[in-house]
Amino acid sequence: MSSARVCHACHSEELEHHASIDTFTVGIEYSDGYYQCTSCESWTLLSWKDSWAGEATTFRTTVSAERATEAVALIAKCKDPHDAWCRCPVHRKMERG
Ligand SMILES: [Zn+2]
Ligand SMILES: [Zn+2]
Repeated sequence: MSSARVCHACHSEELEHHASIDTFTVGIEYSDGYYQCTSCESWTLLSWKDSWAGEATTFRTTVSAERATEAVALIAKCKDPHDAWCRCPVHRKMERG
């Protein structure tokens, strides 16, 4: 699968998972995971989008260390990041508008 957990920069499979969060916005569930590559140290954001109507789609991109560490710190403040229905400030900030 092209959505494999590989580094978006160097395609290494040695990724360290730091944080992930599930959000739910008007019928669509999103799952964002932040991973840091242990070989090139760049950060990869893996996103799943599941509309329930069709197949889940995935999206992979490189994010800056600054943005990634900020997101990881933010996600850590939610008591249950995998509860897509959570209405805490963290979830509200992370969900798509
Ligand atoms: Zn890498
Ligand atoms: Zn929350």
